[in-house]
Amino acid sequence: MAKNSVLGYPRIGADREWKKALEAYWAGRLEEPQLHSALKDLRLQNWRNLQERGIDWIPVGDFSYYDQVLDTAVMFGLVPPRFGYEGGTVPLSVYYGMSRGTKTAAACEMTKWFNTNYHYIVPELQGVSPVLTENKPLLAYREAKSELGIDGRPVLLGPLTLLKLSKGYDPSEMDVWLERLLPLYVQILQELADEGVAWVQLDEPILVLSLEEPDLRRLKYVCETFAASVPGVNLMLQTYFESVDHYQEMISLPVGGIGLDFVHGRSGNLEALRAYGFPADKVLGAGIINGRGIWKAPLRETWELLKELQTYVTPDRLLLQTSCSLLHVPVTARQETQLTRELRDALAFADEKLDELVFLTQALGQDRESGVIAGKLEENDRIHAALAQAEARNRGDVQQAVAVIREQPLDRSLPFAERYKAQMARMQLPLFPTTTIGSFPQSAEVRRARRQWRTGELSESQYAAFIREEIDRWIRLQEDIGLDVLVHGEFERTDMVEFFGEKLAGFAFTQNGWVQSYGSRCVKPPVIYGDVAFTGEMTVEETKHAQSRTKRPVKGMLTGPITILNWSFVREDIPREQIAYQLAYALRQEVEALERAGIGIIQVDEPAIREGLPLREAEQAAYLAWSIRAFRLATCTVRATTQIHTHMCYCEFHDMIDAIAAMDADVISIETSRSHGELIGSFERNTYTQGIGLGVYDIHSPRIPAIGEMTAMIDRALRVLDPRLFWINPDCGLKTRNSEETVLALRNMVEATKQLREQHAFTR
Ligand code: GLN
Ligand code: ZN
Repeated sequence: MAKNSVLGYPRIGADREWKKALEAYWAGRLEEPQLHSALKDLRLQNWRNLQERGIDWIPVGDFSYYDQVLDTAVMFGLVPPRFGYEGGTVPLSVYYGMSRGTKTAAACEMTKWFNTNYHYIVPELQGVSPVLTENKPLLAYREAKSELGIDGRPVLLGPLTLLKLSKGYDPSEMDVWLERLLPLYVQILQELADEGVAWVQLDEPILVLSLEEPDLRRLKYVCETFAASVPGVNLMLQTYFESVDHYQEMISLPVGGIGLDFVHGRSGNLEALRAYGFPADKVLGAGIINGRGIWKAPLRETWELLKELQTYVTPDRLLLQTSCSLLHVPVTARQETQLTRELRDALAFADEKLDELVFLTQALGQDRESGVIAGKLEENDRIHAALAQAEARNRGDVQQAVAVIREQPLDRSLPFAERYKAQMARMQLPLFPTTTIGSFPQSAEVRRARRQWRTGELSESQYAAFIREEIDRWIRLQEDIGLDVLVHGEFERTDMVEFFGEKLAGFAFTQNGWVQSYGSRCVKPPVIYGDVAFTGEMTVEETKHAQSRTKRPVKGMLTGPITILNWSFVREDIPREQIAYQLAYALRQEVEALERAGIGIIQVDEPAIREGLPLREAEQAAYLAWSIRAFRLATCTVRATTQIHTHMCYCEFHDMIDAIAAMDADVISIETSRSHGELIGSFERNTYTQGIGLGVYDIHSPRIPAIGEMTAMIDRALRVLDPRLFWINPDCGLKTRNSEETVLALRNMVEATKQLREQHAFTR
């Protein structure tokens, strides 16, 4: 009969135990053995949960101490020389050094995992020779077996995806690297086979991207090598996040199973299946439960899908799966007791998804459709209908307003060159203006005050007074440091999306809907469940207050429509594009309010713009077009002398320069220091002729950047960018740093700028 499996389970724990353990260890409050035992408890608890809920194939080896890509790199000894690793099992100090940086070595680059908001550590191949440092999946398999008697399914990141996501080698060396890694993969598989492992989940999500001929050849070579060297192990060649482009080639590979995503790649994968059928000698891993959304499955539709799939595969060769690892959704909806009934009923986090999977597996196993199945489908219909009818989803006013402004032109009143000149004159800014990205340290005191305010210990006015004092203190500090464009510091915000969501209509907030973003950082994405609407000023008071304390310009700080969209869990009954316009319209009202309050510079952050980029190249242009439209919709109505900034980070923007220019922001600040200036190269090929600040130091590392490092970065940038349009700023917001680090780093940044200005004394 059909069985089920999940591709991975959240590692953070229902109460973020994982995060707490990691951070306690980093802070020296937890010894290494205690960290190991805390994380082991969590691992066992997760496995037990999967087992008790009735999951047949339980993943092992997907757990991590930071990130699964880093784990794979470390398993193969791919440790950059700067970390001084000397062979053997990679010590935790090196492992966390790579992820977080050390006093002497910059952290490895971090970037987004396909089109998700999960960030992985980019492996660096330069100057390393791979060796197997430990067989991680085997250790995990043994642990599950000996502790709980679970015959787990090891998860292994495949060699193609690993290499494609790595850097520090030339693409022409791809085959050389494959030859280096394959024997190590074979060794891992062989040891697993010797242990009695029958199936391994080989994750190759890279296969959903458009592959070229050489990569297809490599894929075949990899699978043939594994089949010939380790015939005892069946590979589930696992893809996710999209449909596969090369279905025919994939089904002829010598593997035991093919895992396809029928949620995000539904139409493509179904078409392929309809056209070419499915080979009788393989297992179909059918990703039918959405591993990335928080809503209950549309069960009737899923049930129909399953019936169709059964026309291509016999039940014993059908494996019901989540569409991807459940890493991307919160652990359990059980704790969400404060939401409205219709919302609560419609939620499915990781554990509820397991239940859906088990229900469908059991239902499929019955000879005839029983009353129980019909009842469950009806109940599911009712839940979805109740949400559709909710008042929040049917706001005629919003829908009409958005329909009207969508048709209006989205141009600023003057072209860039003219308005920029007017803005700089109005603000009286020097050459190479210095600024920051918005947030200042969210110190223990700030967090405590917010907690006390939330619990009522601090009154509204006491809390507001505290925020004002914090703003005042940082305005004075910024003046003292010598920055040109100041910010209020965002002390009133926990999270840049949540803050706005709480003030806009159409949002709901979970109590415990946390997901891992990078390392120990977890986010609790808001839920956009209704039509989004502006309900009143959101940032004007604090910004105005900050401006009243200084003669220098204070920059207003908003989160952009696309970032709010991409960092929220959103409704699935209307297109994302539509939600983006609703958000843009709401934000435009805030932009205008700031302008009316006399704020001359307004930054609309869009760090997440790239995340929403469809993986299929053919669909990317359309996404960029409506994203740009949304950004412009939010920002185009201000006067020419009001300067619009935007900010982006931790993505590869090389191939997006044109789209970024089309947003028509007056100034963009963009991350480039963590990727060691790689972005700069793309400005040699693409001219960028609006204001731009390349982040001159990495704010994710506690290390204070030296003046010389920043100057070197700036010099490089100025070879390809116009000095008259160049701004100086850190990579990103400073909320995760402490005050001392922040002040020292910014002083160095201002000093680097002074030297720069002297060099450019004659530039105008
Ligand atoms: N303005 C935000 C901050 O400074 C931007 C954060 C981000 O880019 N992720 O925190
Ligand atoms: Zn940023």
